[in-house]
Amino acid sequence: MQKKALNQGLLEYLQQSPSPFHATVNMATILANSGFSELNEADAWRLKPGKYFVTRNQSSIIAFVLGKENPAETGIRMSGAHTDSPCLKVKPRPETFSHGYLQLGVEVYGGVLLNPWYDRDLSLAGRVTYQAKNKKIHNLLINFVQPMAVIPSLAIHLDREANKSRTINPQKDIPPVLMQSDKNQTFDALLKKQIKKEHPNINAQKILGYELSFYDTNPASVIGMKDEFITGARLDNLLSCYVGIQSLKNADPSVSSLVVCNDHEEVGSASAAGAGGPFLKAVLQRIIPDSEERHRAIAKSLLVSTDNAHGIHPNYPG
Ligand SMILES: [Zn+2]
Repeated sequence: MQKKALNQGLLEYLQQSPSPFHATVNMATILANSGFSELNEADAWRLKPGKYFVTRNQSSIIAFVLGKENPAETGIRMSGAHTDSPCLKVKPRPETFSHGYLQLGVEVYGGVLLNPWYDRDLSLAGRVTYQAKNKKIHNLLINFVQPMAVIPSLAIHLDREANKSRTINPQKDIPPVLMQSDKNQTFDALLKKQIKKEHPNINAQKILGYELSFYDTNPASVIGMKDEFITGARLDNLLSCYVGIQSLKNADPSVSSLVVCNDHEEVGSASAAGAGGPFLKAVLQRIIPDSEERHRAIAKSLLVSTDNAHGIHPNYPG
């Protein structure tokens, strides 16, 4: 792939992936369009050499090319990345009403630099769990897309020390302002309205839960006088997810290779879908069921953890 096309694809992927759920479904779509077959963990797998992918929790994905050669002889070429990024997640029962404004309480997810979240045109995306008319429980993804919230800074004349010693209390200083409202407005009602808009055929009777995060609607860009920089939220680590998937699409079909993208890296990886959980191990056990063969394959394999690192900051070289 040409550099320009790769970068353009990355920018689009970043824009379309405001949550780990969207990041995962968009990778799945790219893979499905490139001849990869989707596997379900609950089904029986009968694998032949070919291209496959499987998701867990809708927020982690493993894609692999099962080569014609025996993995016990060749090993598996693997790379790992993560689908989540630091963000502000909406709390359960989030509504707070203050002076005619409806605001949403947020939980800081991961190691967030809070200052850049002020004065941005924010939107909201993620997964909603609901009960349908027939009492069955389902998940769906939503993305408000348009800016619909803001965390306004306090005016400078009310906080003269803002440029010297600003501290932020996430509990009381950053709940985003959603709308002017009386106290009858519920967040669930707003969610139901959005579900109707995005999924007109779905009747979400009751909202049971959600994992929704705010995101900055400012799109990712190639910048610099020589187009030498890429700016954008979630580059850590959707850059590695995207590049990993593109590499896998072009991988040598004779030798086995695999890309794993896990959720929950920013909060310690200790979940069923996280890198500290059993997802990769379970998939390797099913790719190579014989334990002797599997152990030989693992001994010959290499897994590269691909993540973002720091360049030098010219204003803070020390
Ligand atoms: Zn990272």
